[in-house]
Parts: sequence; structure tokens; C-alpha cells
Amino acid sequence: MRRLSLLLILSVTLGTFTARADEGMWIPVLIEKYNIRIMQENGFKLTAEDIYSINKASMKDAVVLFGGGCTGEFISDKGLIITNHHCGYGSIQNHSSLEHDYLADGFWAASNAEELSNPGLTVTILKYMEDVTDRVLEGVTNGMDAVKREALINANITTVNNDAVKGTHYQSMVRPFFLGNQYFLIVNEVFRDVRLVGAPPSGIGKFGGDTDNWVWPRHTGDFSLFRVYADKENKPAAYSSDNIPYKPASYFPVSLRGVKEGDFAMVFGYPARTQEYAPSNHIRMLKDVIYPKQVEIRGAKISIMEQEMAKDPLVRLQYSGKSFGLANGWKKSIGEIQSLNKIDGIVRKEAFEKGFMEWVGADPERMAKYGNLFEQYDEIYKTYTTLYLVNSYTTEVFFNNGTETAGLANSFRNAVEMAGTNSPDLKNELTRLRNSAGSFFRNYNDAVARRLFVAVMDLYGRNIDSEWQAQAYKELYASCNGDFKSVTDKLFTKSIFTSEKKVQGLLNEFDLKKVKKDPFYILASSATELLDTKVRPELAALDARLAGLNRLYMAAQMEYGRGKVFYPDANSTLRLSYGKVMGYDSRDAVYYKPFTTLSGVMEKDNPDIYDYKVPERLKELYREKDFGRYSVDGDVPVCFISNNHTSGGNSGSPVLDAEGRLIGINFDRAWEGVASDIMYNPLQSRNISLDIRYVLFIIDKFAGADYLMREMTLIE
Ligand code: ASP
Repeated sequence: MRRLSLLLILSVTLGTFTARADEGMWIPVLIEKYNIRIMQENGFKLTAEDIYSINKASMKDAVVLFGGGCTGEFISDKGLIITNHHCGYGSIQNHSSLEHDYLADGFWAASNAEELSNPGLTVTILKYMEDVTDRVLEGVTNGMDAVKREALINANITTVNNDAVKGTHYQSMVRPFFLGNQYFLIVNEVFRDVRLVGAPPSGIGKFGGDTDNWVWPRHTGDFSLFRVYADKENKPAAYSSDNIPYKPASYFPVSLRGVKEGDFAMVFGYPARTQEYAPSNHIRMLKDVIYPKQVEIRGAKISIMEQEMAKDPLVRLQYSGKSFGLANGWKKSIGEIQSLNKIDGIVRKEAFEKGFMEWVGADPERMAKYGNLFEQYDEIYKTYTTLYLVNSYTTEVFFNNGTETAGLANSFRNAVEMAGTNSPDLKNELTRLRNSAGSFFRNYNDAVARRLFVAVMDLYGRNIDSEWQAQAYKELYASCNGDFKSVTDKLFTKSIFTSEKKVQGLLNEFDLKKVKKDPFYILASSATELLDTKVRPELAALDARLAGLNRLYMAAQMEYGRGKVFYPDANSTLRLSYGKVMGYDSRDAVYYKPFTTLSGVMEKDNPDIYDYKVPERLKELYREKDFGRYSVDGDVPVCFISNNHTSGGNSGSPVLDAEGRLIGINFDRAWEGVASDIMYNPLQSRNISLDIRYVLFIIDKFAGADYLMREMTLIE
């Protein structure tokens, strides 16, 4: 029944086409059906088939999932990929040392031979996607028991996956869309030999640092270059010096023509997660409970890391990746709270829900289906909020760069169990741990770890009710009277997990008793046990109930909004969003233009602040007005904004003009509209892109790596 009504809605919306030209992250295979007309009305000059096709090379062959959570795109027929600097950050950091600090100084491979390999880094290309809803829901009936339903769906998905990749080297997955009302099969080709080609220094690629992050006007040259390698048949292969540059089916021509205000712009990439259709209960939970606590604890961690990084370049190398990861989420949460407050997000949601319930109430059949949706939400969120908080906060405290040594100790839990049962697998596990401990200590600093420990222990005690605290924590608290600083020396001296030498010694000769007595092992185990026994099982049960309710509420919203074309929440699958280059009113009397320039970089230059130190060479180019062909009105364009609906994961996405040419690289969103993952605000939600001309200027004039441009197709 539900499926039938969904199909009905989809077909009804076909007739009354009202997809918007700003909000929305659209499914590539459905562009022809729902979007192409409005795109063309707004200036797009190509066809839906040019964007996504399984019969010919199309744009989708040029867009890649970069690593696990970013987007990248091919810009040459020799496998050259551009993505954000912050997406390549981990790789750049891995290759950096105090002698070769590529983060600080930048890196440019002068030939293929100088490109640097990155074990573990993948590039994923979509081969095709297909609606498999009927096959996934085969045998599912209304009112079916939730556990049985899930088992049947999982079995069906396994069959769909197996059929899809049989006899191929592809990988596939089935993803729910519209919160489980529709399913798509996604078939991918995954490349594993991906090499670093170039990156500007952080003074360009991360210019403005956390202060400018999520903020417009922006002057960050947030890009890096990689190359995909394949075997002689152009197929994915593990790293080998015999591999050759991959020849993509399609790549983007690069436009030197630039953009004007009002120009059509579209973003094609992998947005990770949005929650546009969530009930007000969920938003209230995030905005009023989860985010404020997360902001507080992350803020504390970041400020410790920053103080220590400022003292020592080695600490900066070790902690810049960690602090960026924390700061990105921390600042976004602050922005989301503010922008939700400003647009009265919860009040709006509640008004929508009121209208929705009136519509439900007007029809007995709808009453029977949806009548008690919100009673159920209310009941669930009462418990869910506490469990969600305990789960996420405990993780912030003991793991996720909180108590770093407890995080390391926790990774030994399997080994402890294996040693206890004399498992033959122990040897392999110890080898695995040897590697992970090696990378842990490469980015570990004792002074930072101690300060982090004291700060998070203190916050944990103040923010989590004792009923929900880990037992070992309570004992430690009692033993030191809550003065964690006073016991830090003792714990750090006693523990194995604070010293690489001790950990390697332990791995050479595993001593079960010693591990079990280790203070950080005890803390980590206690936190994990609390989560595993008291928190996560119930949380999972509530999540399952919520999944069922959300599916129903989504279907109901689509029925209620009949006549409107819906886009599904982001789920790390390829999406297209389109709109226009445009500025916005930030606040009373303040309008932001959509473009920034190199002059703006120089205005921000401040040698006393690390993140605002402009590299000497860039200043020299500016002084001499040596802009080459990138000069526009005596300046160089740097960034621009448009009203494309984007999210995390869209980092690195191609921004394309009306003819499908690369005009920019998406990398961020503007502060005022940053709540667009929950509520897109057409007046202020703007995505920030790096103007491709700035990229070329940096490669060509700054780095002298113009040889890289010879493999691109430049549109003059
Ligand atoms: N800068 C963002 C991120 O990587 C991209 C976005 O969310 O718009 O998280």
C-alpha cells in the first residue's frame, strides 16, 4: 500500500513539475524526469544525458568519491584529479616531516616519478545506479514485524548485490532513499593506486584556518591534486610501479572565462548526510542538548591543541589534522545553532507539523495510518535524547581524541580476549596492533595528551549524570577527589599506553595481566562496557523504531506535499544541485558580494597569526601585479558563492557552468545559512567555491608547475 501511494505521488509530481532551482540534491538518473526543464530555463545548455548516461561517456564518469568522505573530479585524460586541500590533508600530512614539511611548504611533483603513493586511499567511480525498490521490498507486507522485515530486506539486498557484480571487478551497494521508501543499487569501480601530485602550502590551501572556516567572505585556496593509476588494461590495481595513469571515460574542461553574478552554476558530488524531513523533536534534541555539549568539549580540546601547536612545529604536524577534524564539526554546530535560532527553525517545523496533523485529522484513513506519529516521537525522544547524549559524549571523552591513551588501550581489547582464550589469531592481531600503534605514536605528544586527559575527565564529571558514568571513572574520581591533575603524573608514568617503547615491548611479549591492570585500559574498558551493555542495545532498539516511524512520516509528508517534487536526504551517493552565482544579505545593512580577490588575501595578511601568514612568493606576485592571464580588472579572482544546496562530502565537488565546464571547486558553506543540512534557507544558504582561475594562477605563477596545465583542456 505504502509503496503504491509513493509511486502515485512520484507520477503525480511528474505532471505538476515544481522542482526548485535552489534547494535540493537531485538523483542523477532522475534529472531527465524532474529537473532538466527547470535547469534549462535557468540557463543550462546541455541535456540530462550529458550529465548521466549509461550509453555514452557523461559527466558522472568524471566525478569521483575521493577517499571515504569527499568528492573529486578528473581534469585530464591522464587520471589527474582535483579535490580540496582539506580532503587531501591526511595524505599530505602523512608525507610530511620536519625536513619535508609539505603542509607548510606545499608539494609539486615535477614528473610522474615524483608523485607520492597513499596506501589506503581510494577513488570510487559510479558505473551506474538503478531503482531496485521492487526487488528489495519483495515479500515485505504491511504490518510485518520489524525484525522480520529487516531480515527479509537484507536478504533481498544481498541477492541484488550478488547479481549486480557477478563476474565483474565492480563493487556494489544498495542504499535506502526517502528514509527507506525507495532503494537504489549503486555499482562502482574502486581504484586503489592514488598518488599525490600537488598541494599549495597551508598559507594558501588552509589560509584563514578555523577562524575563516564556514565563513564568507573567504580567501582560501582549498585545493590539492592527485592522480589515479590503473593496470595496463585501465582497470583498478593495487599500487605498483608498473601501473599507468588511468584514462577516465570523461573529464572536465577547465574554463578560464570566469563567472558573473546571476550565472547558472551546478555542483555534482557526494553530499554525506542531511536531515531535512526530521520531526521537530530531533532538531530540538540536536540544537538544545547534543550540539551545545559537543561544542563545549570540542572547544576545550581544540584550544589545548592550538596552544601546544603554537609552541612547537612538530606538535603542529602531529595535531593539525586532529584539530582540524574536531574544529570543523565544532564550528559547524555553533553555526547550526545560531542559524536555526535566527530562522526560528523549530517554530517553523512545529507549524508545518500542525498543518500536517490537521490534514491527517481530516481523513479517517489517514488518521488510522498517521494519527499517532507524534505521540510516538514524543515518547521515544524522551529516552532517546539521554542515550544519544551518553553515547556521543562518552565517545568524545574517552575516544575521538579525548583521552588519547584510552583510545589506544581500547584497541587492545580484542587481543586481550584472544590471549585469554589462547586464540591462534592473537599473532595476527598483534601484528595489526604493531602497525596501528606505530601511526598512533607518530601523531602523539605526551604534554598534549596529559592536558586533554585532565580537561575531558573534568567535563565528563560535570556533564554526565553519575548514573550514566563509567564505573572506573567514578572510582578514579573518588580516589582523587575530582582533581585529575593531581593523578596525571602517576597514571601516565604507570601506563604502558603512554610510551611507544613500552607498547612495542608489550607487543613483542604480550602480558595479559599487565594490560588488564593498566589504568587507561581499565578506563577504556569500563567506558566501552557501559556503552555496550547499558547504552547501545537500547539505543539501537529505539533507532530501529525511529527508522520505521521516519519511513512512515516521510511517505506521509510526500503525500501531504502532493504536487511538489521531493529530493531525498543526502546519503553519500552522487547528487546534482543547481542554482546561480549570487550574494546575500548577511545582517542588517550588510550585503555580501559573491566574489573575493587576491587583494582580499593581502588585506588579511598578518605575519603574527599563523593562519593568516601569506607566503612571500604570493606577496611578491601581488606587489609586481604579475597575474599573467588570470588578471581580471587588475586583480585575481579567488572564491565565489552560489545558492547550490550542498553538504559535507560535497567538499571538492566540481562547480560547473551552463556548458558543463569547470568554473570552481566547492569547499564550504557560508555561516548564516549553515543549517542547510536541516533546513535550507534560500535567502542565506550559500556554498563557497574556489574560483578555478585562482587554482590555475597558483599552479602556474606561484608554483611554476605549468607543465600540469598542459594536460588539461583549457577553455579560453
Ligand atoms: N567544508 C565542509 C566540510 O567539509 C563542506 C560543507 O559541508 O559544505 O565539512
